[in-house]
Amino acid sequence: MNENPVEKDIENEENDLWEEGGFTETLGPKDIKERMGTFHKKHNEDMNFNCKKCSKKISAHNKDWHNGMCDNCFNQEYY
Ligand SMILES: [Zn+2]
Repeated sequence: MNENPVEKDIENEENDLWEEGGFTETLGPKDIKERMGTFHKKHNEDMNFNCKKCSKKISAHNKDWHNGMCDNCFNQEYY
């Protein structure tokens, strides 16, 4: 269905993650599929989003992996 070659790479790395039994455990397979697209982006890539708490510019990575918050707010929320 999906002929994007990038998706193939993601598929492989996804398997690696599962084998390591890492942090992906809490995510459903569907979430992982959707999020893998941004997982490999750098923290400062695609700064097209705003922190939901302080409205600071955040990357697509932060949006998906830091609960839509900038690093600061994310750390305050979870640590
Ligand atoms: Zn923030």
